[in-house]
Amino acid sequence: MYSRLPPEDRRELEGHIHVFLAEKKFEGCDGQEVTDEVRVLIAAQACLLLLHRKTDCYPRLRSILVYPSSYIARTWHLERDGRTITEGEQTRGGESWPHGTVVLAWDGAIAGAVELNKNRNLVLHEFAHQLDQEDGIADGTPLLGGSNLSQTRHRYQMWAGVLSDEFQQLRRAAEDGRETVLDTYGAQNPAEFFAVATECFFEKPGRLKERHPALYAELQEFYRQDPLLYAPACPGKNENST
Ligand SMILES: [Zn+2]
Repeated sequence: MYSRLPPEDRRELEGHIHVFLAEKKFEGCDGQEVTDEVRVLIAAQACLLLLHRKTDCYPRLRSILVYPSSYIARTWHLERDGRTITEGEQTRGGESWPHGTVVLAWDGAIAGAVELNKNRNLVLHEFAHQLDQEDGIADGTPLLGGSNLSQTRHRYQMWAGVLSDEFQQLRRAAEDGRETVLDTYGAQNPAEFFAVATECFFEKPGRLKERHPALYAELQEFYRQDPLLYAPACPGKNENST
């Protein structure tokens, strides 16, 4: 993707990467070595989401924990009685926390960068969660902003209308077992929907625009970029059909 970005976008991206690498701490887990390749590949994908915007470069984020591959995370579940907490384990490929940490599996980060158009990009997914969590709430609505109060209100209204409609469509598709351009993983809740939609926006822009033009337009306005401009020459042919 980097090789197809316009020169001015590459320069802007490189600037964000420098800030990211200077400000964020990388930690290897389970024997994962933190090389320059690890740091730059993760930073570059994360910073792609920041192009063309006024940004403090993930202001809540302090550390990126990198595992070699999927890892076991401890989970705690509050039972229906409201008092009992059950402890368990879950295999995960990545996590994003609002209090300053992103966790990534290195093999997943590489796969997302190498396999364009597969609709899966771990780093974009987890950093979309970071953008969503900048206001402290993971609810699928990042800070939208606007040049004045009425424009800001309009942005939030548009976003809420389009995203909730698209989320409900995906939930129905998941219930019916229908395949859709969006990964049905996003049917879990609005936060996962936004992260999955972000992956699709950058990985399969042609299909997303064709099948979900209103969602594409909202994401294009939020991300202030049109990935179709730097998609492979024939986006329709190079993207999977679902
Ligand atoms: Zn997620």
